[in-house]
Amino acid sequence: MNSSRIAERVRRIKPSPSTSAADRASELRRQGRQIVSLVVGEPDFDTPAHIRHAAANAMEKGATRYTLMAGTVDLRRAIAAKLERENGLTYALYEIIATNGAKSAIYSAFAATLEPGDEVIIPAPYWVSYPDMTLACDGTPVFVPCDEAQGFKLTAAQLEAAITTRTRWLLINSPSNPTGASYTADEYRAIAGVLAKHPQVMVMTDDIYEHIRYDNVSAPHFLAVAPELRDRTLAINGVSKTYAMTGWRIGWIAGPSDLVEAINTLLSQSAGNCCSISQAAAVAALDGDQSFVGRSAAIYRQRRDATLPLINAIPGLSCRAPDGAFYLYVNCAGLIGKTTPDGKRLNVDGDCRDGLWALALLQASDRHSH
Ligand code: PLP
Repeated sequence: MNSSRIAERVRRIKPSPSTSAADRASELRRQGRQIVSLVVGEPDFDTPAHIRHAAANAMEKGATRYTLMAGTVDLRRAIAAKLERENGLTYALYEIIATNGAKSAIYSAFAATLEPGDEVIIPAPYWVSYPDMTLACDGTPVFVPCDEAQGFKLTAAQLEAAITTRTRWLLINSPSNPTGASYTADEYRAIAGVLAKHPQVMVMTDDIYEHIRYDNVSAPHFLAVAPELRDRTLAINGVSKTYAMTGWRIGWIAGPSDLVEAINTLLSQSAGNCCSISQAAAVAALDGDQSFVGRSAAIYRQRRDATLPLINAIPGLSCRAPDGAFYLYVNCAGLIGKTTPDGKRLNVDGDCRDGLWALALLQASDRHSH
């Protein structure tokens, strides 16, 4: 993108690679090609029936108008109840704002808080959108490589070394896209210990995969372990992955009222409130029958357990069992330096892309409906 008609903030970012690849898969499908898309993190289940019915009822009852900017009272009550019930966190309604998905929540939080040059610590591997969202909001992404030997998780020592006077945010995504790694209470405690010394650093927890977990390891919320950081933490989540509701676009932010109010102001002059019908559906998701959540996680687990041995049996590839989320993050280090049958030398991981790198445990040939 070189056109001078385009703002510098857009020229410095690239289109989301997963969204572009998903668009391409849809286009090929539209042309009649049979495509199994393993591109985006999207449950292949249908949204549960009681949630769809709640949306239909909402439309029939006339919930088709603007809502309160921060989201309906019903939705924010349902979010507050969920945070209390599942995470042991207490938030008032004025500390919660509903957004167009977690993606918009993260972007708006950056837009409302980053000054040019402010740094955002992003433990790597990371969800592809974090750096570009940071750049689009004039921030500077600071990547901290967290390799497989350390379970793909940021250590307290690495965090200490990465913090500068310009650090504004630390991003925590647990379980992680793409590695599935999940932090323990002790690991959070160590991270919180470092943050205690650096009051300028705020924490954004991206909890979008919290319900997709495989081992019955207790996985507390960061704030349940470090409640003293509540005043500088934004807890971000949404219904997309937990309830197979990616298209409904409902996410949220819970946090200190000054930050939530600033984000509310920004959104009131940009996106506006999120879809009234989707908000009613999200209330049914959060308040209603939760059996879908465990059932879908069990199916992802079966797929993980079926796929892992197959990948690990391929010479040159290996894959650590993810703790959660629905991805396999495949290590292809054993292929580097090898040559393909058509003579291409594999120099870096990207060269192995035609084989595989991150596989979504999704879109299996069987389709489950709930
Ligand atoms: N955060 C992570 C780590 C994700 O992987 C995704 C989607 O892939 C999102 C946020 C976006 O979620 P939403 O659909 O709520 O915008």
